[in-house]
Amino acid sequence: MVSILPKPMIIKADEDEVLDIELEEDFIKANERMADLNRRTFDRYGVKVVDFMGSIGSGKTSIIERLVEVLKGRYKVGVIAGDTTTAIDAERVSRHGVPSLQINTGRECHLDAPLVRKASKKLLREGVNLILIENVGNLICPAEFPLGAHKRVVVVSVTEGEYMIKKKQDIFRAAQVGVINKKDMAGYMDVDTNQLVKDALDANPKMKVVVTSAKKGEGINELVNALEL
Ligand code: MG
Ligand code: ZN
Repeated sequence: MVSILPKPMIIKADEDEVLDIELEEDFIKANERMADLNRRTFDRYGVKVVDFMGSIGSGKTSIIERLVEVLKGRYKVGVIAGDTTTAIDAERVSRHGVPSLQINTGRECHLDAPLVRKASKKLLREGVNLILIENVGNLICPAEFPLGAHKRVVVVSVTEGEYMIKKKQDIFRAAQVGVINKKDMAGYMDVDTNQLVKDALDANPKMKVVVTSAKKGEGINELVNALEL
């Protein structure tokens, strides 16, 4: 027997069930201070920095690979790839002949400003003037941890379904550029890319939204323009 509720039941955590809010705020404040310091360092060195956020499988690495191909003639590009345990992404990017560093965060599901400071110091020594950062695959907490990047990008794929932007509005508010990737799959997924663009703009009206297929190399020049690179 299945009972049908007139309205879906919503269960909210009580205040005292949320652990260590003060401690968490300290972490977030400390991270923000380090992000400000990172930004000043990047500006002093004349380095542009872009932070790519998005779920595992949304196509962040493929997008970065395409950007590296288009931009490596104009910039000295370096890449920082964040992942919990593997070095797959940095290895993929390094095949394009640019310095790439892997940060393994272990149990942490996001990059933070101190980790990026450490990694970017190594890239600055290589003389890079553009750093592309792939954040850990996750659409929730990276939003709360700025890294000092000049632009934050959120990458979503049409394969994540039609409600994914509506459900993850915070990360769209934290970004200046939105990428709707794998547009070549939209027909198979029965997803309307125009609706996804609209959802992104509903979450963040100031955002620039670009529709891409990283696999086919489509929309990459539009993304370069949106990033002002
Ligand atoms: Mg990746
Ligand atoms: Zn996290």
